[in-house]
Amino acid sequence: MGKAVCKLCKSQMVKLFLKGERCLSEKCPLEKASKAARNKRLRTRRPAKMSEYGLQLREKQKAKRMAGMREKQFNLYYQKASRKKGQTGELLLQMLECRLDNIVYQLSMASSKAQARQLVTHRNVRVNNIVVNKPSCQVKVGDEISLSKKAANSEFVKNSVEKAKKHGEIPGFLQFDPEKIVGTMLVMPAREDISIPVEEQLIVELYSK
Ligand code: SF4
Repeated sequence: MGKAVCKLCKSQMVKLFLKGERCLSEKCPLEKASKAARNKRLRTRRPAKMSEYGLQLREKQKAKRMAGMREKQFNLYYQKASRKKGQTGELLLQMLECRLDNIVYQLSMASSKAQARQLVTHRNVRVNNIVVNKPSCQVKVGDEISLSKKAANSEFVKNSVEKAKKHGEIPGFLQFDPEKIVGTMLVMPAREDISIPVEEQLIVELYSK
């Protein structure tokens, strides 16, 4: 599973941050590759120019993979976003950002999105004190996210929270109490709060063809 996940990044030569802390360390295969390339002075070589379609497709794949979604599910998200009032690309990213698994990750309750998804599917996450086991559940403004006692006392959650405390990594649209391990969504995430680094306009152009 570990190497398979990194293959998704390698196939696009883009860091998708799918493995938590490892992605920020020198152990990341893309970091190693870029270091090796620097050492061999390969960076002077011009990368092959990608077609417009290729760029659009790449952005879609990036967004889809970072959200851990399948093609069909991503298409449904796009269709939903396109029916809403406002900018489709931004609304799409907002919907991805507000997924329960992503919010659990952003609240530092897990060190990777895969771990966050597992917390949800294993019924360890509560929204307003009700167990929710669907990673795709949309978190709303005012929703309170907490964990089961077992999960809140687990080493991996404690470690993850401890790191966030040190580095202050909780985004501004969320509030987090590290002692109680409880988070709240204060407002809807603005474009600058969105953690998925894609050019959403390219995705919109792809779907508009
Ligand atoms: Fe693997 Fe994370 Fe690096 Fe992607 S960014 S290659 S998931 S370690």
